[in-house]
Amino acid sequence: MEIEFDFLTEGDELPDAFLSAYELDMMFDHTRQSIRKGLERKFDAIMCTDHCVAPKFKITGLYNNETEQMDIQYHVDTCCKLFLVRVMAILNKKG
Ligand SMILES: [Zn+2]
Repeated sequence: MEIEFDFLTEGDELPDAFLSAYELDMMFDHTRQSIRKGLERKFDAIMCTDHCVAPKFKITGLYNNETEQMDIQYHVDTCCKLFLVRVMAILNKKG
């Protein structure tokens, strides 16, 4: 399964940043691992039945040092619209 991660921080220059660069790296690492695990669990055997292609994911994360919030977005790339609908449904399912 193809998963690409693109994590960025905002407000790096703040002198009283809540997390140090090292801690931030750790948090990003942890976040990547848990997202990957979740996706692998949900999409283990999922392929487009028409084209036999697995979905591709791109995960973007923006951590804001000021608000201490991590904004994560999932971008999904599929071979066709029909499969995209199916992938989104699985993605949005809880658990
Ligand atoms: Zn397809």
